[in-house]
Amino acid sequence: MTITLPTNWRDLQRASRDARANAWAPYSKFQVGAALLTTTGEIITGCNVENASYGLTICAERVAVCRAVAMGLRKFSAICISLTGVPVPCGACRQFLVEFNPDLIVLLDNADNPAGTEPEVMVLSDLLPRAFRLLEP
Ligand code: ZN
Repeated sequence: MTITLPTNWRDLQRASRDARANAWAPYSKFQVGAALLTTTGEIITGCNVENASYGLTICAERVAVCRAVAMGLRKFSAICISLTGVPVPCGACRQFLVEFNPDLIVLLDNADNPAGTEPEVMVLSDLLPRAFRLLEP
């Protein structure tokens, strides 16, 4: 199955990379940005926020979702995740995202590539098959 990029993927990539620059990652030095696209076109960003008590660290993707939900936004169509290396969301974030849309389009942006380089695109249900759910989507 071919998955197409959202038409505004460049806006998502830009927002995700801009958010990445704000990451608080003094321990790992591993900066991550995320830009969540709502079904009504809003772009909500997040960055990872580390803590001296390592277990309290939160990923960029979950920051973006929490910000959106706090703003009353719950319907998401895509997320762009920007980081260096292998740009995939961790397992916790996959589960966190599937709560809102198992068919979420996930843009995997390797921030080592120049801006404007097309990110890899996947569907969340391919990244987290048979996800744990208590509610129907
Ligand atoms: Zn994560």
